Amino acid sequence: MPLDVSPQNDGVSTGTISRPGGGKILDSYSPVDGKKIASVSSANETDCLEVIETAKKAFLSWRSLPAPKRGEIVLEIGTRIRHFKTELGTLVSYEMGKSLQEGLGEVQEMIDICVFAAGLSRQLYGLTMQSERPDHRLFEQWHPLGVVGIISAFNFPVAVWSWNAAIAWVCGNTCIWKPSEKTPVSAIAVRNIVCGVLREHHLPEGVFCLLTGDGTIGRQLAESPDIALVSATGSTRMGTQVAQATARRLGKSLLELGGNNAVIIAGSADLTLAIPAVVFGAVGTAGQRCTTTRRLFVQRALYETVQSKLLHAYSQLKIGNPLDEASHMGPLIDKDAVDNYFNAVRRAGEQGGKLLTDARLLTEFESGCYVTPVIIEAENHWQVVQEETFAPILYLMAFDTIEEAVEMQNSVPQGLSSSIFTNDLREAEYFLSSAGSDCGIANVNVGTSGAEIGGAFGGEKDTGGGRESGSDAWKTYMRRQTNTTNYGRKLPLAQGIRFDI
Ligand code: NAD
Repeated sequence: MPLDVSPQNDGVSTGTISRPGGGKILDSYSPVDGKKIASVSSANETDCLEVIETAKKAFLSWRSLPAPKRGEIVLEIGTRIRHFKTELGTLVSYEMGKSLQEGLGEVQEMIDICVFAAGLSRQLYGLTMQSERPDHRLFEQWHPLGVVGIISAFNFPVAVWSWNAAIAWVCGNTCIWKPSEKTPVSAIAVRNIVCGVLREHHLPEGVFCLLTGDGTIGRQLAESPDIALVSATGSTRMGTQVAQATARRLGKSLLELGGNNAVIIAGSADLTLAIPAVVFGAVGTAGQRCTTTRRLFVQRALYETVQSKLLHAYSQLKIGNPLDEASHMGPLIDKDAVDNYFNAVRRAGEQGGKLLTDARLLTEFESGCYVTPVIIEAENHWQVVQEETFAPILYLMAFDTIEEAVEMQNSVPQGLSSSIFTNDLREAEYFLSSAGSDCGIANVNVGTSGAEIGGAFGGEKDTGGGRESGSDAWKTYMRRQTNTTNYGRKLPLAQGIRFDI
């Protein structure tokens, strides 16, 4: 089946109905070859208000559909996406610049989360507690929240939406998606796939909504008291603004923000695992994953060996068109990202950082977005190392004791993903203990990037504290209600309080 992406690139949709938005035109250019993919009309403030009203109305009927029925529809959406896996994965790869394998992997995550959510739809369990009062039942239920706003980042143009939408839907919420202004065409392609299923089930307009646009639309969602939960993925700067806007109205937010992830290679590490994990973690998606490996700590005795193995691996890397399966690394998203890359390299150099590989723009590619991945010997406390630069830059550092490595790893503002490579049980367990990694994700003999949907995904500190996807992350998309039923003929009060009248 061909993927329908040509149509009117209407940036405002309430499901099966789409229309042009009143906002400015977004032109999407591919970083792969610099060509324009399409123009998309984006939403303005009035469009946003109208869509919120439609989503609110749809919530009233969607929440009444039994959760397992909602789950069946989400499963069908996953199946429909599966039909278009190659086409959608290719478009994601072309619009974002990640390798085709990663584009396909992203779509696979969408399918997987729909399957997960369908199963979850029968498992939105609440507890029953023992009441201290006779003839009383004490229990809890989980109810849907209302309209969930999903703000997503450019680097996962479609998967992040699905992690949120699939779970939010089975929980009984309706969703409004504000994708990145850098990847609007992938979002429209998803709408075109999903709307077929919505139509076949005669679902009301408003269960799925799309509003393309820049941060102003995201801001409007964050400020709206009608958005029960704002799930925002992106930079810490954006998350801080969303947190403040939702807090001002005492609303809920789920924040998935920047990372500054580290791998520790301990003396006993199996380098046949560690080296490929570090290289994939550092250069995969051209260093534009929230879980990209940005810092590498190596036990001093292994430092020279690891350095030379890394340099050998980097020399083998093929940088090129990400749609070519032979390429290991594609372009950065745009020329601003290229500037940020050179800026970070320059700042590290000014601090005394030693570049072990060349930092170069590959001028043979017309888009002007292809750079070489770099390794820099650095120090953890340098400001540039403390920041997340969304580019393939790996800072290399040595350590003597495992305590020192964990201390350095934790000494950054972000807390997303972390790894240790070791064959020493004590080191591994120390790393996973409360005194170990302070990140939301901590792995042993597994790199920092490439999480599975079955676990709860997210991180601490400047990463925002949110959790989405698997495990019990669904609870964020529901409100908990504690219930007490008295089936007796007396009215005993809790804590033994007496009130005789
Ligand atoms: P970004 O912050 O520039 O934009 C992300 C989204 O937020 C976009 O849709 C944008 O339009 C919107 N936005 C911008 N300002 C806003 C505001 N004031 N209010 C509401 N919405 C606003 O991020 P980006 O460059 O697209 O993505 C890269 C960043 O995302 C990196 O920091 C990366 O680590 C992070 N990220 C985190 C995760 C995670 O799960 N922790 C996943 C993917 C990406």
